[in-house]
Amino acid sequence: MKILVLNCGSSSIKFQFFDMDGEKVLAKGLVEKIGLNGSCLKLEKKSGEKVVFEGEILDHKVGIEYVLGVLTSKKHGCISNLNDIKAVGHRVVHGGERFNESVVIDSEVIAQMEKCIDLAPLHNPPNLKGIEAISELIPDMTQVAVFDTAFHQTMPKHAYMYGIPSSLYKKYGIRRYGFHGTSHRYVSQRACDILGIECKKSKIITCHLGNGASVAAIKNGQSVDTSMGFTPLEGLLMGTRSGDLDVGVVTYLMEKEKLGSETASTLFNKHSGLLGVTGISSDFRDIGEKAAEGNELAQIALEMYAYRVKKYIGSYTAAMNGCDVLVFTGGIGENADHARKDICEDLNWLGFEVDEQKNDGLRAEEAIISSDGAKVKIMVIPTNEELMIARDTQLLMGD
Ligand code: ADP
Repeated sequence: MKILVLNCGSSSIKFQFFDMDGEKVLAKGLVEKIGLNGSCLKLEKKSGEKVVFEGEILDHKVGIEYVLGVLTSKKHGCISNLNDIKAVGHRVVHGGERFNESVVIDSEVIAQMEKCIDLAPLHNPPNLKGIEAISELIPDMTQVAVFDTAFHQTMPKHAYMYGIPSSLYKKYGIRRYGFHGTSHRYVSQRACDILGIECKKSKIITCHLGNGASVAAIKNGQSVDTSMGFTPLEGLLMGTRSGDLDVGVVTYLMEKEKLGSETASTLFNKHSGLLGVTGISSDFRDIGEKAAEGNELAQIALEMYAYRVKKYIGSYTAAMNGCDVLVFTGGIGENADHARKDICEDLNWLGFEVDEQKNDGLRAEEAIISSDGAKVKIMVIPTNEELMIARDTQLLMGD
């Protein structure tokens, strides 16, 4: 069965095309700068060959036409006919409280997704555009929605409620939802597969450390807490997001600097985090380089980064009354050996001990990096959200 996975952002469409027989990636790529100058489709073929198609890609529908065009192209394609695509799986950012698992998309699902736009005004509309474009371009195609929030719907009330008037939860749905659910689900299940343990009898902490970053506590296969909240702003220090912050800072700055809500949101979402602290870059590698050259703010940012993750690991160990496995994933978690070491330093009292020989230089490959005999297995597992979406889609096709 061949499945197309789409991740539609505001001006981009990431795609991967899978042959689920052996879970092989037949093609993948990115449509970027939709509606802007310089729009193009970048294709990476199964052979590894990369091809760029430039063109005027005015909207998501045209972008998806390009994707379908390259998949079926004689020269660069991998199928002769659109009928070879059996289903399309979409990454959808927010499923609110309505969706606790992936679903086949129908008009009722679309109506519910539209209701969630209020909760994710930047993300859900392009996701919906992608779904609409497929319905128009390949009518009758089965489409599946896989939600970033769904995995965390198992969080108990005491973890997801905020300490504000509960009437606001009822009125606006203000609660913690969590994100990156597909990644946390993938790496936690993969960890169990590799270790040969049962997910249903495990306590796992997963650290998805990319530009956006979150930690999840997964007990017996279910998310019981996660660091992102009502929006992806809560929790860890990120590339450009502040993470946890005293709300008093927000109201104080809004008053002192005469900030409107949009400017304040931009300050904490786009100009904070590693970028804001250092004034250098949001990219972890850049910060690492500057810190090595002796830049003090870069050194502080790295310390803040590791300290936040460490505190979440400690609190989630408490929340689950223990931890069997700690997983690092995302661009930083998979590649930055020094960050993994700093995060786990002085956590040995809780049973977290990194073996430096196993950790040093390890990049983007599955491995166990804890010391032999340590209480907690520490692992590096490259995430694969697209594969998870393809698997959910296949499952919902009844295959
Ligand atoms: P996104 O959230 O956009 O998917 P990624 O998961 O790709 O982000 O992570 C991007 C982050 O990973 C960047 O901060 C980047 O600097 C960091 N990163 C990637 N490779 C390395 C590396 N070799 N060493 C340190 N950090 C890395």
